[in-house]
Amino acid sequence: ATGSTKIYEEFLELVRDTPNVCLDFAPHDEGEHVGVKKTGCQGFCELGPLVRIQRGGETIQYVKVQKEDCQEIFEQTVLHGEVVERLLYSKKDVHYRHPEDIPFMAKQTRIVLENCGRVDAESLDEYIAAGGFEALSKAMFEMSKEDVINEVDRSGLRGRGGGGFPCGKKWKQVARQAEKTRYVVCNGDEGDPGAFMDGSVMEGDPFKLIEGMMIAAYAVESSEGYIYVRAEYPMSVARLRHAIAQLEERGLLGDHILGTDFSFRLHINRGAGAFVCGEGSALTASIEGKRGMPRVKPPRTVEKGLWEKPTVLNNVETYANVPKIILQGADWYRTIGTEGSPGTKTFSLTGSIENTGLIEVPMGSTLRQIIFDIGGGLKNGAQFKAVQIGGPSGGCLTEKHLDEPLDFDSVKKFDAIVGSGGMVVMDTNTCMVEVARFFMSFTQRESCGKCVPCREGTKRMLEILERIVNDEGEMEDLDRLEELAKMIQSMALCGLGKSAPLPVLSTLKTFRDEYEEHIRDHK
Ligand code: SF4
Repeated sequence: ATGSTKIYEEFLELVRDTPNVCLDFAPHDEGEHVGVKKTGCQGFCELGPLVRIQRGGETIQYVKVQKEDCQEIFEQTVLHGEVVERLLYSKKDVHYRHPEDIPFMAKQTRIVLENCGRVDAESLDEYIAAGGFEALSKAMFEMSKEDVINEVDRSGLRGRGGGGFPCGKKWKQVARQAEKTRYVVCNGDEGDPGAFMDGSVMEGDPFKLIEGMMIAAYAVESSEGYIYVRAEYPMSVARLRHAIAQLEERGLLGDHILGTDFSFRLHINRGAGAFVCGEGSALTASIEGKRGMPRVKPPRTVEKGLWEKPTVLNNVETYANVPKIILQGADWYRTIGTEGSPGTKTFSLTGSIENTGLIEVPMGSTLRQIIFDIGGGLKNGAQFKAVQIGGPSGGCLTEKHLDEPLDFDSVKKFDAIVGSGGMVVMDTNTCMVEVARFFMSFTQRESCGKCVPCREGTKRMLEILERIVNDEGEMEDLDRLEELAKMIQSMALCGLGKSAPLPVLSTLKTFRDEYEEHIRDHK
């Protein structure tokens, strides 16, 4: 069992073993009533396992809790309302009782992650009590299908999987197809090194994702959907399956939902660990039982996607935005973020950063706000050097970009992409040639091999990078890297190949001196 599971079990036992205490939230017996539940991830990975106590109107959160601490927490806080100060999060002599007051949380805007770490991810009742399924109900009973699509379109929501394609436009394209069999598919194949945003939503708030998909299905008249989940996310699969079973049991999934004409069946597909299956056409091929390889487009997925039928394909975070947009409206959504990229974006903070974890901020926030205000700066007071954004297909941003707004369009100007939101923070001890080699070795290994520029080109680039890292390179290698990079970018079939050279190109542009140093050093 993991640390959190052990702690959960310890609390269950403490409650059961204490006279006059019932393991229940409902006040129908004599004595104290204590409920113990597991939530999803709150995002503050650095401080886990976390224990949140709700007693009366107050919430107290303890950090880095060990099994041995449970008895003290139970006796002092749960039974008597006293605080165990040593287990509170503290910074600069300030002890924070309430989780939302911790600077890491206080500076975020949580829409997608609003329930993560707060509700029992396995309880439909809790999701409903937190306002869940009000948006679906509004869509089904107060809005026409066109209204739903227009609202999403007006909100300006853009696909959070990396491309940033307007979500409403995609739904419109599917809705106008003559073919009436349509699918709604969710890409939960989050494969970027250092990214864990979608996994946290699937584990921490599976009903929200499903509600978003159901709204899409209602709007484009689809009766079947698939969630494609990364192989390494067994808890996501378990929580989604549990959620689907509960919804089916209550008549909220299946035929004639809530007595209407709307029917929707939802299936889970587990990936087998191939990064390329995060690409739309490879993903749908994989669901069909074929080898996950991208195909030439057109036709596009909106016309001929899964089983050659019109398909809405969005990622987890995109669907998780939809319920709030329907409930609070496009105008409200547009008050958050930037003109061209409304709403929020989740980012996972990893690398040399004080507060590793999962965050959600308005689009247009700066790197400085993310890394220093929320992330707490670099680990052990180290000096910031760069951040790799957008995973292996992204690029490096440096000190001069710290005050630039981060959104889909502005980041592109610096040869990087927001991507799915992975951020790897690096300090001045990091060798940028080694970073480029790491990402190239990742994409080279994950190249599906279908087209020569990507299959052979990435291999040649990796060979050169290894030569340079091992101090065996020559100056001409830098021109060769650039030539190969341009060839791959212009000729590769899919996004994986086209973006594979980005980390090399962006480090060559900003840190060329480090490449040259490796080469000069051995001469
Ligand atoms: Fe496969 Fe790479 Fe070609 Fe994409 S670019 S189809 S990953 S070989």
